[in-house]
Amino acid sequence: MTLLDSVLDHNKQFVMEKQYERFQTTKFPDKKIVILTCMDTRLLELLPFAMNIKNGDAKLIRNAGAVISHPFGSIMRSILVAIYELGANEVMVVGHHGCGMTGLQPSSILQKSQERGVSLETIDMLEFSGVDVKGFLTGFEKVEENVENSVQMIKRHPLLPKDVSVHGLVICPETGQLDLIINGYEDTNMSMIQNQKV
Ligand SMILES: [Zn+2]
Repeated sequence: MTLLDSVLDHNKQFVMEKQYERFQTTKFPDKKIVILTCMDTRLLELLPFAMNIKNGDAKLIRNAGAVISHPFGSIMRSILVAIYELGANEVMVVGHHGCGMTGLQPSSILQKSQERGVSLETIDMLEFSGVDVKGFLTGFEKVEENVENSVQMIKRHPLLPKDVSVHGLVICPETGQLDLIINGYEDTNMSMIQNQKV
């Protein structure tokens, strides 16, 4: 049986037995938060449990490294949609120790891609067309710095409302322990006070 078949087989039973009933909720996050975190497999269930997030509580966005590569890319759009359309009013960026994006070198992926049939000409052609292939495939040095970058990217976004708090945290993928890197309430209070002065 293929992996796809086993998923589809399980799914038939899941629906037939109405196992979905305990997950039913709405699209509006009860805790009014949007979380950006990493796609790391260890965090799949650990992170929601460690943060006491249940189905219906939060908007959860995951990618490799909890990185925001572009202020007008799909991650930032998802955060804005969660805030304006779905009622989230706090953002938490949660990086983690031992992330695959820490120290990721483009040469590693480029070499593997060639071993799996992507020609050097294709890579050269992309670079010739102005695509920053190496930049696109580069990770970060320190998880704390990446969390801070993502928080700043969100916080300084021209379309973000000023009253939204943006927090930065790092989670341990073994124990689920969270370390606070940026307390977004401090920033939000500061900008509120500055606004009042103006
Ligand atoms: Zn990761």
